[in-house]
Amino acid sequence: MMAFLTQCRAIVGDEYVLDAPCDTAPFLTDWRGRFTGKALAVLRPGAVEQVAALVRACAAHRVALVPQGGNTGLVLGSVPDASGAQVVLSLTRLNRIRHVDPVNRTMTVDAGCILQQIQEAAAAEGCLFPLSLAAEGSCTIGGNLSTNAGGTAVLRYGNTRELCLGLEVVTPQGDIWSGLRGLRKDNTGYDLRDLFIGAEGTLGIITGAVLKLYPQPKASITALAALPSPAAALQLLVLMQDHCGASLTGFELMSRYCLDLVAQQFPQLPKPFAAPHAQYVLLELSSSESERHAVGLLEQAIGAALERGVVEDAVVASSVAQSAGLWQLREHIPLAQAKAGKNIKHDISLPVSRIADFIAATGPQLEAAFPGCQLVCFGHLGDGNLHYNVAPPAGISNHAFLANQEQVNRVVHDSVMSFGGSISAEHGIGALKRDELARYKSPVELTMMRAIKAALDPLGIMNPGKIL
Ligand SMILES: Cc1cc2nc3c(=O)[nH]c(=O)nc-3n(C[C@H](O)[C@H](O)[C@H](O)COP(=O)(O)OP(=O)(O)OC[C@H]3O[C@@H](n4cnc5c(N)ncnc54)[C@H](O)[C@@H]3O)c2cc1C
Repeated sequence: MMAFLTQCRAIVGDEYVLDAPCDTAPFLTDWRGRFTGKALAVLRPGAVEQVAALVRACAAHRVALVPQGGNTGLVLGSVPDASGAQVVLSLTRLNRIRHVDPVNRTMTVDAGCILQQIQEAAAAEGCLFPLSLAAEGSCTIGGNLSTNAGGTAVLRYGNTRELCLGLEVVTPQGDIWSGLRGLRKDNTGYDLRDLFIGAEGTLGIITGAVLKLYPQPKASITALAALPSPAAALQLLVLMQDHCGASLTGFELMSRYCLDLVAQQFPQLPKPFAAPHAQYVLLELSSSESERHAVGLLEQAIGAALERGVVEDAVVASSVAQSAGLWQLREHIPLAQAKAGKNIKHDISLPVSRIADFIAATGPQLEAAFPGCQLVCFGHLGDGNLHYNVAPPAGISNHAFLANQEQVNRVVHDSVMSFGGSISAEHGIGALKRDELARYKSPVELTMMRAIKAALDPLGIMNPGKIL
């Protein structure tokens, strides 16, 4: 392996081939600290040609590589295994905004750009890049594309896949494919771009992308509605979509348990209602006209929902600043969970129309199997995406409860499949859910996926052990 590392040093320079444990350590542990791998080295190229040359060296020496962006992924996709034989290829030095085209409403970027940097560059041109998630200060657009990240604005703008028009990719052979086309219409055969999006680094390395930009809304205003049940939340979703159309940009469900947890752990945050309610929905409306227009539209729609008895109570923010305060409640749920202890997490999706039935059916099954367990159920209801986390019953230690992970997953994921859902809505498969994928995908689908992997990466050097 000395010859391999010498070749890498010749490509990127000594300082960008890290092999001392103190230098590699920050790249080896996953975001939640659940796993620490080992690496032969961490490679930090600063140009696309360097990425290609490094991949050719890896292929020649049969060294497997793990692409890494911000390392904020939640399924152990961006860290190497325990063998010490893989290299981490960090893309964070590829961080240039290459070009903004305000008329075509596109931006061409390096894959290692931090998401927040892209949002700010779009805003500087009076445009919106709508992908937004809590890790936006650390995650890279290459990682967002490779996991087809969702976030808070999917209802209006779609997942990262829908926000990308073109890609530049280094193939497992070390060739550079430039598909950086800013076209909204292009029917010229197989869509290779869509293969690499969501591939979690198993088919090639994304080095650049053409992203879609949108007009910047003048104001986004939020309301918090209290409801008796998830079924009422679905009624509210339909009502809001009928009243507000594409202006509805967020629709987040939170159970009473979630907001109680936030109130316990963060007592300084606002408590919008005097009495508790079974469910809450945080709604966001964006207006291309003005703050006043957004507030008016939202008040009108919420008024209709109160009149029809869909909503029990509601608070409408009267300004953008107040809206931010209401969002804090939603954003603090994962933080409150982390403070309260461990839980078994699920990132699932369902047809929107089946969500209430799923919640009604799955809770009693878990209660029967694990009496007293607590459900932390919240998520992007408008996208059919729930974070359905199961916390230990009072008096049971985290450690003892986590030993039941396999059985808890079986109850939740079997139920998800019976309602026509997916076991991974946002975070991907990585190494964490690989066995679950093998269990729930049909043999036909798995065979096609393996055929694609073998055709593009016959040596199996691209992030092996992830997804498949
Ligand atoms: C606090 C927090 C909130 C989050 N919220 C959301 C959310 O709302 N919605 C959501 O969808 N996800 C969310 N995530 C997870 C999400 O997947 C990541 O935040 C993000 O998309 C990954 O970007 P990254 O640059 O950190 O990628 P990494 O973690 O570095 O990598 C993720 C995967 O992509 C691969 N990869 C990375 N870069 C490249 C590249 N250039 N080419 C090829 N493969 C590559 C890696 O090998 C790995 O398999 C959240 C994570 C955190 C920590």
